[in-house]
Amino acid sequence: MIPGLWRLRLPLPLPGVPHCNAWAIAAGDGVVLVDTGMHEPGSMAELERSMAQVGLGVDQVRLLACTHAHVDHWGQAATIRDRAGCEFWLHPNHQHGFSTATDPELALARRLEIGRQSGVPEAVLRRYAERSRGMASGIARVIEPDRALVAGVEIETDLGTWRAFETPGHAPSHVCLFQAERRLLISGDHLLGRISLYFDYGWTNDPIGEFLSSLDVVDLLDARLALSGHGKPFIDVRGHIEANRTLVRKRLAAAESAVRDEPKAAVEIAPSVYGEELTETNTGWRLQETLCYLRHLELQGRVSRESEGDLATWGGITA
Ligand SMILES: [Zn+2]
Ligand SMILES: [Zn+2]
Repeated sequence: MIPGLWRLRLPLPLPGVPHCNAWAIAAGDGVVLVDTGMHEPGSMAELERSMAQVGLGVDQVRLLACTHAHVDHWGQAATIRDRAGCEFWLHPNHQHGFSTATDPELALARRLEIGRQSGVPEAVLRRYAERSRGMASGIARVIEPDRALVAGVEIETDLGTWRAFETPGHAPSHVCLFQAERRLLISGDHLLGRISLYFDYGWTNDPIGEFLSSLDVVDLLDARLALSGHGKPFIDVRGHIEANRTLVRKRLAAAESAVRDEPKAAVEIAPSVYGEELTETNTGWRLQETLCYLRHLELQGRVSRESEGDLATWGGITA
């Protein structure tokens, strides 16, 4: 598509998310690599294969910059840095992504606690804990970034300078990279071609508020092409931004109306938000997303939170 810019499509072992994209950008005698794919057996060979298909090699990576600290975007950072001897840049609010590798038991305990507060039955939580304990983290090794990829940091390439914009919401560490002359946006998971929302719950005060602000940040850039973390690049960036806003507004309204008549736990509210029942595979992320909506509504004074023992319930506020 654009000379000097390559989409590296990497397989993922995640249900419903079969691939992610890393992006290679020509830079002098090598490339800047944006994102890494997840670490698992054979995953470096996959990266090598997809780079070789476009005549590149991992040892040509001069800089590795990651859009955020989800495993599919930074999981192979350590292996790539070891191999290429390059620097690794990532936003400093990366604890949300490091914790599953640095302290897996604590990370699991946190997720179980969220489930318990949300009203998930103990038997379901037990099965979830058993499944989780056997699972690999998707992270080759935890390494600290060589440089904090914060707002205003610039990355020089043959396609021009890319500037980092902080876009928290999907994850506290999320940044987008923008090439102003060409109006190219590396959008990570902040904007995807297929509108699909995910928010890390419990790391920042108001992920939904942050996400909506981050949509405004990207809207002002007036990008003409988005190179996203999953799926094909897309034009009509504005349309995608607006579709995200619309979906968030719709789900906020659904969460609010679900608790209008009586207080409910998050596990009872989530089916109204999505218009379908929870399943064991989607409960985790749908609960997190629902809790983010409820938190946003709470901060707006539209719902209130009550605790009884481990359980939290949410109720409407009568004016
Ligand atoms: Zn992500
Ligand atoms: Zn992703």
